[in-house]
Amino acid sequence: MKLHLIAGARPNFMKIAPLWHGLRGHHKIKSSFVHTAQHRDDEMSSAIWRELGLPDPDHVLSWKNPSGQNPVTAMMAAYEGLCNYNRPDAVCVVGDVNSSLAAATIAHEMHIPLIHLEAGLRCFDQTMREESNRVAIDHMADLLLTPSSDADGNLLKEGILPSRIKQVGNIMIDTLVRMADRIEQAQVHEKYGLTKENYCLVTLHRPDNVDVLEPLRRICRELVNISNRWPVCFPVHPRTKKRMEKTGCLEILRAGNVRLLPPLGYAGFARLMRDAALVITDSGGVQEETSYLGVRCLTLRKATERPITITHGTNSLVGIDMVGKTALTFAHDQWDRDDHGGMPTIPFWDGSTASRVIAELDQFMVGGMISR
Ligand code: UDP
Repeated sequence: MKLHLIAGARPNFMKIAPLWHGLRGHHKIKSSFVHTAQHRDDEMSSAIWRELGLPDPDHVLSWKNPSGQNPVTAMMAAYEGLCNYNRPDAVCVVGDVNSSLAAATIAHEMHIPLIHLEAGLRCFDQTMREESNRVAIDHMADLLLTPSSDADGNLLKEGILPSRIKQVGNIMIDTLVRMADRIEQAQVHEKYGLTKENYCLVTLHRPDNVDVLEPLRRICRELVNISNRWPVCFPVHPRTKKRMEKTGCLEILRAGNVRLLPPLGYAGFARLMRDAALVITDSGGVQEETSYLGVRCLTLRKATERPITITHGTNSLVGIDMVGKTALTFAHDQWDRDDHGGMPTIPFWDGSTASRVIAELDQFMVGGMISR
């Protein structure tokens, strides 16, 4: 049976890699890695998937979006073309990016059973594109694989049939666990002149923070303020870099002790995250990874679709104006990451999610549970 694993943007590769590895040699299910070409820069795409041990994609969607219109339509057309000549028995999409929505929509329209891994997350902010993508994908999916019980609750409240919902845990943690040796070996502190547990790591790419000039400038000033206490290490997302170049923000940051880096490879970034005094982010995956690692995380957003990282993890939401002040209060705390992270913290965030997913796929695809 053919299963398409859809990935096209940086956070997708961390989510499909454990599945791809787990399905190798499966007696019935043959997975193909379909790259939607949403992210095309090497550092956001090929460098990451190669590091995670994925092969080159079996299929790369070819599409252009010259008018700058919604790329979902272009990706849908390209994926429909692929499914027409190479129809899979099921399609698995992960997370909430545009290319997941595009592939999910085509699977649904072509009556190909659809699996959503990381289903049920909600931040209840309808202005976020990711939120509308999540809701749309969940309501098309035939099998919804959730990371935590709050996600199950969200889906049930929206009227999704309980028989379609399976809690499997957090697939990103599988990658963190699988890559532990590579993370340990990454020589990043020396390279960037940082000392363990004595720096602040930053990632930012959400439109609310980086697309509008004033919030972005305020964030940069806050980071400079924090850099008086801790060196700030900031691998800059390409989207953020473009905005910063246009708005004079790079100059603001250069006035402080802020190390601006290109997006980093997975193991190097994870090592920096593991050993940071503090992480400031608006990334979904980083909120989860810091919770697992027991590293303090300040999330620069009004809401999170991952509330379990607040109730059971190390995450707090913070507004731009408070981020500097909050970060600096941490400077006086004693914080032992071993008291906060690791396997027992959140149920099923244990590195074995892929095997639970594959057990569900066995029932769904091979055991004849597919029903629409
Ligand atoms: N990440 C990385 N290099 C970086 C920054 C992040 O490998 O320079 C990893 C991070 O550890 C996590 C994933 O990228 O696994 C998160 O991706 P992103 O923030 O782009 O997406 P989101 O999680 O917000 O959807």
